[in-house]
Amino acid sequence: MDLAFSPEQQAFQSEVRAFLAEALPPEIAARVGRGEEPTRDDMERWHAILNDKGWLAGTWPEAFGGQGWGPIELHIFEEECALANAPRIVPFGLKMLGPVLMKFGTAEQQAEYLPRILDGRDWWCQGYSEPGAGSDLASLKTRADRDGDHYIVNGQKTWTTLGQFANRIFCLVRTKFDGKPQEGISFLLIDLDTAGIEMRPIRLIEGGYEVNEVFFTDVRVPVENLVGEENAGWTIAKYLLGHERTNIAGTGFSVQAFAQLKSLARQVTRGGKPLIQNPLFAARMASLEAELDAMRLTNMRMLSKAAAGGRLTAEPSMLKIKGTVIRQAINDLSRRALGPAAAPFPSEDLDNLAIAPPGHAHNAAGYFNNRKISIYGGSNEIQRNILAKGMMGR
Ligand SMILES: Cc1cc2nc3c(=O)[nH]c(=O)nc-3n(C[C@H](O)[C@H](O)[C@H](O)COP(=O)(O)OP(=O)(O)OC[C@H]3O[C@@H](n4cnc5c(N)ncnc54)[C@H](O)[C@@H]3O)c2cc1C
Repeated sequence: MDLAFSPEQQAFQSEVRAFLAEALPPEIAARVGRGEEPTRDDMERWHAILNDKGWLAGTWPEAFGGQGWGPIELHIFEEECALANAPRIVPFGLKMLGPVLMKFGTAEQQAEYLPRILDGRDWWCQGYSEPGAGSDLASLKTRADRDGDHYIVNGQKTWTTLGQFANRIFCLVRTKFDGKPQEGISFLLIDLDTAGIEMRPIRLIEGGYEVNEVFFTDVRVPVENLVGEENAGWTIAKYLLGHERTNIAGTGFSVQAFAQLKSLARQVTRGGKPLIQNPLFAARMASLEAELDAMRLTNMRMLSKAAAGGRLTAEPSMLKIKGTVIRQAINDLSRRALGPAAAPFPSEDLDNLAIAPPGHAHNAAGYFNNRKISIYGGSNEIQRNILAKGMMGR
């Protein structure tokens, strides 16, 4: 097992760094660096810049407009993007639906949808979760009843991330009502402009708007929008979730957030001295840094296994737990470093109030927003169940 980058990988890392220095718009990087949510325009601009470069869908095969990157190239690319404060690439079309269509879609579906994901004509969102069907996804109730050459969809999805910007949604729907719940689910592509669809915002605890409820009332969906066989959607759903958990440790985000924490601890003073010199605080930081280094090493170990053709089983679950726990711990220490200055919420004009040191005004919002990372993509409790089954044989 080799944990160091090869000369070719190092060259690729330098190429990515140089590209980011030149192509990432500074005003977008500044916004992301301050902990603000990137705007719709930020995300679309960055998407287009990456597409022009050919790096938007790096892991897609060349035949579909990608670069055929392996897991290490993807890791290098994503870590460098995070360190440069690039906006996160919206994953629903690129990392979820794209691979699903390549594996399960018809040639017509691939020709129709894949180019539209790349050039940004389509913004997809994910319609899996429902009230009462999150961790227990197979109990979902949104139904699709066949009526000639259409399905009639009725039901509700929830937690639909960035649905307010999307024009299409891929949904898990129930098409069979008896037998095992997993065997009656289908995977359907739905145009959000179809009559009978209503999107309602859900406000998050920090005041942000990034998730929605979606209601379907007698929505007519052409049967050609079915992906794979009817009632075979559970296999597709699991395949997609496997992709959702790729690179889930988000090491780049943690490394970047830890560097900001360090800089904060140098600026903030307690008892006339920089906080970083406070023995208790320094010990907390050292312990977190050790955890972070260990996670990066584990991540490299797993990437190296995957790059050598090894199959990852329970490992992504371990990385998801570690990655999210560490990011939340960094958020927590930053909040403690700021003390009362961590109190304001983004509805206030934070950057001009100068309550917190420059670049840290959105700390409290970030802290609360990141409570989500141990819930979505399969909660950490569910990941622990997977780990227990996979590694202890229970
Ligand atoms: C910000 C955000 C964005 C999201 N975006 C999307 C999206 O775009 N599309 C989409 O489809 N979904 C999305 N989700 C939904 C997400 O996948 C679910 O929230 C998640 O799967 C948990 O489901 P739940 O919320 O129904 O909680 P529940 O499943 O009701 O769980 C409640 C609690 O019980 C625990 N629990 C449940 N079952 C077990 C068990 N068997 N063993 C141990 N503990 C258990 C859970 O860990 C959790 O702590 C998003 C969620 C959030 C918070």
